[in-house]
Amino acid sequence: MKPWEANIRKVVPYVPGDQPRGSHLVKLNTNENPYPPAPGVSAALKEMDYDLFRKYPDPASSVLVDALSEYYKVDRDEIFVGVGSDDVIAMAFMTFFNSDKPVLFPDISYSFYPVWAELFGVPYEKPALDENFKIVKEGYYRENGGIIFPNPNAPTGLYMPLSEVEDIVSHNQDSVVIVDEAYIDFGGTSALKLTRKYENLLVVQTFSKSRSMAGMRIGYAIGNPALIRALNEVKYSYNSYTMNMPSQILGAKAVEDRVYFQDTVEKIIRTREQAKLRLQELGFTFPESMANFIFATHETAMAKDIYEALRQNSIFVRYFNQPRINNYLRITIGTDEEMDALYRFLKKYL
Ligand code: PMP
Repeated sequence: MKPWEANIRKVVPYVPGDQPRGSHLVKLNTNENPYPPAPGVSAALKEMDYDLFRKYPDPASSVLVDALSEYYKVDRDEIFVGVGSDDVIAMAFMTFFNSDKPVLFPDISYSFYPVWAELFGVPYEKPALDENFKIVKEGYYRENGGIIFPNPNAPTGLYMPLSEVEDIVSHNQDSVVIVDEAYIDFGGTSALKLTRKYENLLVVQTFSKSRSMAGMRIGYAIGNPALIRALNEVKYSYNSYTMNMPSQILGAKAVEDRVYFQDTVEKIIRTREQAKLRLQELGFTFPESMANFIFATHETAMAKDIYEALRQNSIFVRYFNQPRINNYLRITIGTDEEMDALYRFLKKYL
């Protein structure tokens, strides 16, 4: 080993989902939205002044913060924006989770949480889900250095009613509680209405799913101004986390188009409900999903075999090989046509 190699930081890395390219693919593996961004986004892109590319971006992302402030009816000092919600959450780990006490997150959840905990050197514990994959709120009634969980949870899609989210937040007023609402727009009730009641609550959302802008990397957090100020101080100390100017401008355009947002979200919910019926007919079972994906296992066929067979036919879904969920597939809700292609193949295959 070279002497400098001894100084390389070792991490168990997060493995992002496959991003196969090609218009013939049915891509149902990374929970992207199958519909294009709002029409105002492409119009603004066409008119964009390229001088923006020459100049540094606004570090405060003011146009985007203004649009979000108007949309959510919160003050600008209650909003933090970051380069995707992954960036927002990483920043939140660095800012709020600095105790010797363990950070708590569910044992089956977004697989980035343990990676950040390891990366930033914070201890963590993972309260177990129950046998139906539900988050058990009492698991979070113990000493901790912070709490984070997605609602709906990933990769299960299960939604926790707001009253239970509130129980966790109110039981833990000595810690920052982060609710990761990447999938909240597909039918759940957001904890945003609680941020003025609980100063320890931070709600994180993203433009990657319901707003069809995963490629632009836009995420945000809403919470008490003291939390937001702390996040900004850490962000400004790592200059590389500033959002680029096209993302700021196009993100603001996406927020302005409320009707398009509502329509596409409703379409995805309708397609999801129909997909549930069809998957059930084919012998799949799954937790009740409130997200833009279904987390399913089959009564006889092995998930890994189904995944491989689909892949050979250019249909991409996500397969999990972690303990307890190693016979599960996560299927993103696509367009009706994409779901028809999936269904036709499965009907023949199973
Ligand atoms: N939280 C959860 C639960 C997710 O599934 C994802 C998507 N991988 C993210 C956060 C991050 O999304 P993004 O960085 O694209 O906003």
